[in-house]
Amino acid sequence: MAKRHPIIAGNWKMNKSLREAQDYAVRLLGMLGELTEIDVVVCAPFTALSVLKDELEESVIHIGAQDMFYAPNGAYTGEISAAMLVDVACTYVILGHSERREVLRETDEEIAKKVKAALKAGLTPILCVGENLANREEGKAFAIVRGQVEKDLTDLSADELKRVVIAYEPIWAIGTGKTASSEDAQEMCAMIRSTLAGIAGVVADEINILYGGSVKGDNIAELMEQPDVDGALVGGASLEPEGFAQLVQNA
Ligand code: PGA
Repeated sequence: MAKRHPIIAGNWKMNKSLREAQDYAVRLLGMLGELTEIDVVVCAPFTALSVLKDELEESVIHIGAQDMFYAPNGAYTGEISAAMLVDVACTYVILGHSERREVLRETDEEIAKKVKAALKAGLTPILCVGENLANREEGKAFAIVRGQVEKDLTDLSADELKRVVIAYEPIWAIGTGKTASSEDAQEMCAMIRSTLAGIAGVVADEINILYGGSVKGDNIAELMEQPDVDGALVGGASLEPEGFAQLVQNA
């Protein structure tokens, strides 16, 4: 089976001023500006996106946002549309991150609308799914993740599904230093792919599935060796450009 083109996406979360974002972009470009074997994405806060556009738009490094709203425009105070992200040269958008599901109470219904709106605007959604520690201890991890995949990807054509990226991020591994073992990551990513096959048939083989949760320069290679792990979504270890570039190079 042809290996999918790997993706490594950094998720800055709520970090970095304009000046820091610009400095990061220049330094990262200096280190990874020639790289083509891996798609590198930097997912920044909304406020930093236009500075990344200025520095990275013409480069091999892709720009991503961390959320968006599903309506195309209108009376939604505080929200940002897919078209606005396209306007600042975004090609990716993280959707349904566990921090948004938990802290901001985002529902699968809202996330499904966001995925559809992102695809319609030509963005690649990075849909995050994952179980919490209690779910895992109760043996419910697979059912929870399968349910999220099915609910968040309803009503999409095979062509649309092909353009979705999934990030499996067990909540107990995010920011904790506790990575899932590469076997656990593989097992869940394979289950996600078989769920996708149930929804989309053979197209499932073309969908990129990333692992996220305490990914670092020294565990990325082992994770990437797993047949159903096509890359990573990286939080803490993406915050310094040198560390992130090294992680990408180790992949
Ligand atoms: P982490 O975060 O790499 O800091 O664990 C991953 C994420 O939340 O996307």
